[in-house]
Amino acid sequence: MDPDKKKLYRLPWSINESPIGWLEVTDICNISCKGCYRSGRTGHKPLQQLKEEILFLKKWRNCNSISLAGGEAILHPSIIGLISFIKDNGMKSILITNGCGLNEEKLAEMKSSGLTGVSFHIDSTQERPEFEGMENVSSERLNEVRLRYAHMVDRVGELTTNFGITADDNNFENIPEFVQWAANNSRVINSITFITYRGLPVGNGLEYFANGKKVDLKPGSLGYTISADEKEKISITSKDIYKTLKKHFPEYDANSYLGGTVDHTSFKWLLGNIILNSRSKMFGSYGKKSMEIVQTFYHLLFGTYIVHLRKRKIGKKVFILALFDKPARKALRKFIGYILVNPMRLFYKINILNIGIVQAPDLLPDGSIDMCESCPDMCVYEGKLVQSCRLDEVIQYGSLLRVVKKSLP
Ligand code: SF4
Repeated sequence: MDPDKKKLYRLPWSINESPIGWLEVTDICNISCKGCYRSGRTGHKPLQQLKEEILFLKKWRNCNSISLAGGEAILHPSIIGLISFIKDNGMKSILITNGCGLNEEKLAEMKSSGLTGVSFHIDSTQERPEFEGMENVSSERLNEVRLRYAHMVDRVGELTTNFGITADDNNFENIPEFVQWAANNSRVINSITFITYRGLPVGNGLEYFANGKKVDLKPGSLGYTISADEKEKISITSKDIYKTLKKHFPEYDANSYLGGTVDHTSFKWLLGNIILNSRSKMFGSYGKKSMEIVQTFYHLLFGTYIVHLRKRKIGKKVFILALFDKPARKALRKFIGYILVNPMRLFYKINILNIGIVQAPDLLPDGSIDMCESCPDMCVYEGKLVQSCRLDEVIQYGSLLRVVKKSLP
């Protein structure tokens, strides 16, 4: 069954109120990923420019945290200074990294400068030193590498750990295995994110315009332009991922969403969770009321919305949410039944595995592009906010592309 908007909280974020600020510190990377749309155009951004972008995001987006993205953010020579600058400006910082080149010492230095969490992207489409000589990287090998990084973050301590993967028709079947792996390691993994594979099919009776001028767009003109016959690659949606999660993990559910800018039925961001214990026993999830209370009270108390928590052991306190949240009450009932069978189970630790699903922009049949409402990952480019997933269009053609069906007047 598709997620039901009535049972979900519509996140109150907007263009001027977003908990996340997206900062691309460099476009240099130390590995190569298939389909990467940002590599080696301009190099490291100067520190002064980055500071100005951080202040711009704080002023115009009222951010609670800054995602340090790239390229590979740890390659930037001033990364430590940037993390301190973000902290001095009262925001959290999340490092988005492939992990290559990251070690405990560097991570500890980042933590003492104010880093809040690390989000890893490790998948089989990457040419990583760990996969050298391997023709096909198995999901076991992938999870082994991921776990090594999760343990590294855990040893440094007090940082949150997220793993993001790109979901497409090649790895869709591995999603339940990935979630189970994350659940089995929920002591050291706080969240996982699925981002559907992104591609803009070209040809197919469509024309492209930038700043009113026609653009000769071909597969490969941008990192994400693909030919119309490759459309299968982008067939996976957030609803497909939600359905597969519900089928394999009935205790999982989503609690909040961001819709599309065009299609009222789309779920561009779908946030959910599983409450489970250290033995991977799942009890349920917390629902829309909890998310609404968190967003509303956090904003009242601290003046911003929130998406990234600092590392804290919430543990059994999560069941307090049962006072006002139906799904949390259901999880609590299941937990009580579980400990009544064996009271020693009360001493197993309770963890929460947060699960985010992001659906990349979709090209609709009439040529319009359905984006994420209020795009939380907007970055700054030449004094303007631009959806980071489409920044290359602006860099290359001077504006976002408009797509027109040839048959339209
Ligand atoms: S519009 Fe693009 S950059 Fe913005 S949140 Fe959606 S996928 Fe990310």
